[in-house]
Amino acid sequence: MSLKIDLHCHSTISDGMLAPEDLVAYAARQGVNVLALTDHDDIGGLKVARQVADEHGITFINGVEISVTWKKRTLHIVGLKINPDNDALKSALNQVHVDRDARAREMAESLAKAGIPDAYEGAKAIAKQAIITRVHFARFLAEKGYAKDTKSVFKKYLVKGKPGYVNHQWMTLAQAVKLILDSGGIPVIAHPGRYDLGIINMLLLMHEFRSYGGVAIEVVTSSHTPPQYQQFAKLAHQFGLKSSQGSDYHGQGISFMEMGYLPPLPANCVPVWQDWPEVQVVAA
Ligand code: AMP
Ligand code: MN
Ligand code: MN
Ligand code: MN
Repeated sequence: MSLKIDLHCHSTISDGMLAPEDLVAYAARQGVNVLALTDHDDIGGLKVARQVADEHGITFINGVEISVTWKKRTLHIVGLKINPDNDALKSALNQVHVDRDARAREMAESLAKAGIPDAYEGAKAIAKQAIITRVHFARFLAEKGYAKDTKSVFKKYLVKGKPGYVNHQWMTLAQAVKLILDSGGIPVIAHPGRYDLGIINMLLLMHEFRSYGGVAIEVVTSSHTPPQYQQFAKLAHQFGLKSSQGSDYHGQGISFMEMGYLPPLPANCVPVWQDWPEVQVVAA
């Protein structure tokens, strides 16, 4: 039996549209067998997601997607199989929570200068208890009619050079990889094709990531094109890194792809789940 494996998605704990329990139920309907929830900088959804996954017979993998600043760019590092009770991880993510709130207030100030009032309150009301992200601002701006949908918001606002953009310092690559490793997790570079790095910096990133103990890169993800699957499969092979796959699902109408429709990893990839006992159990 071929397994549907999805190791990257988001719930309302960060910027997804579905609550963790609804996301898992949706994954079950889409025929997903192995699922990792990887909310941005927050692990608050893992316990309930695991419970619901158990009820649906889905093999659940603890995950997180940590924001990192590397060479003045924002990168995302996924941590798979992290321990959500690890104190260092919990306290580092709590700090990111606090820093995100300060960043959100600065974003709102920048939007206010552009004539858009009350954006902090608006985004916060949408985020509720979740960490506050640019998606919450985008939804607020779209609801107020400043753009036709969240996608169009990101063309006019919240990105470099536009109102609402704040140059935020996330943790370093070394810190994120160490936090993940120290909590028993597996560090994975998320969607490497999305970073505007150029070949030299991409090679430097792979080298540096591996030198810290990084393990895998996402090869198949909804934001990569088929030629990029091949390109990153080759890079993984070149650097002795394993390969991961995930939809990066955020919700209906927001994501590039539904859950459960990922193409297989290219044949020469070593899957990051290759030696995971819980995945072998499902396959048997
Ligand atoms: P933040 O971590 O607060 O900077 O928010 C980043 C999130 O915004 C990403 O994880 C995406 O979900 C979303 N995002 C960023 N850029 C875009 C874009 N151009 N179009 C749609 N969503 C975007
Ligand atoms: Mn997101
Ligand atoms: Mn990401
Ligand atoms: Mn993501």
